[in-house]
Amino acid sequence: MKYAIVTGGSRGIGKAIAIKLASLSYHLLINYQSNDAEASKTKYEIEATGGEATLLKFDVSNKQEVENSLTVWLNRNPDAFIEILVNNAGIKDDVLMMWMTDQQWDSVINTNLNSFFYVTRTILNKMLMQKYGRIINMVSLSGLRGLPGQMNYSAAKSGVIGATKVLAQEVARRGITVNAIAPGFIKTDMTKDLNEKELKSLIPIQRFGTPEEVAELTAFIASEKASYITGQTISINGGIY
Ligand code: NAP
Repeated sequence: MKYAIVTGGSRGIGKAIAIKLASLSYHLLINYQSNDAEASKTKYEIEATGGEATLLKFDVSNKQEVENSLTVWLNRNPDAFIEILVNNAGIKDDVLMMWMTDQQWDSVINTNLNSFFYVTRTILNKMLMQKYGRIINMVSLSGLRGLPGQMNYSAAKSGVIGATKVLAQEVARRGITVNAIAPGFIKTDMTKDLNEKELKSLIPIQRFGTPEEVAELTAFIASEKASYITGQTISINGGIY
């Protein structure tokens, strides 16, 4: 059985990626933080179409929780090999820097950037031993160009883009690719308060993207066919720069 883990796989983009990878015969490890109902729904949707999924509830921003949950799972499943890691869990908490609190800075940096470090180093060892792996980090247009009001979020996503470039070079010889995907505006809970009618004028394709469109790109980058693509940040944004 092939395994894939998607952090923040219970809702939005992560959910669409989990469903897509399950349709490609991966057993999905679906991480989430708190929304048990949505996580169970995602697991049910995968199983209803003949797929397999396991829920792993832990806070990606908490080093101890990440290590405990993943180590326990890896020890209980010694023969399982996680081929694909999608670091997708993320939050935003927008405010101009002059009003940003320590808590707003810390929580966004911890959830979007430090989580990459905590989760990836736990999964990486086995990929190195197996000489194969796909690591995909969900970043953002905001991390590429910087958006006013999102200093914490832009800094975190830019940090992950830098980490992606470095890790790609460190593990390339072991058959592991590391890439980032940078969505623009995608229709999920994270963007539900944005006014699509107003914002679509900024987007050449004139609409928000869907989680399923991001999932298709992720599935390709996660496939063996994408073995010569590494260290890249691939945008999916309807043409907005
Ligand atoms: P979303 O709909 O808000 O879903 C967020 C997911 O992350 C949920 O599954 C949530 O779990 C999980 N999560 C949040 N904090 C977590 C934590 N500390 N530990 C574990 N899981 C946690 O978000 P989305 O729009 O799908 O975004 C997914 C990723 O794409 C994020 O990294 C985001 O920054 C990035 N992105 C999104 C857009 C966009 O337009 N939507 C654009 C660019 C980049 P619970 O259900 O338990 O809360």
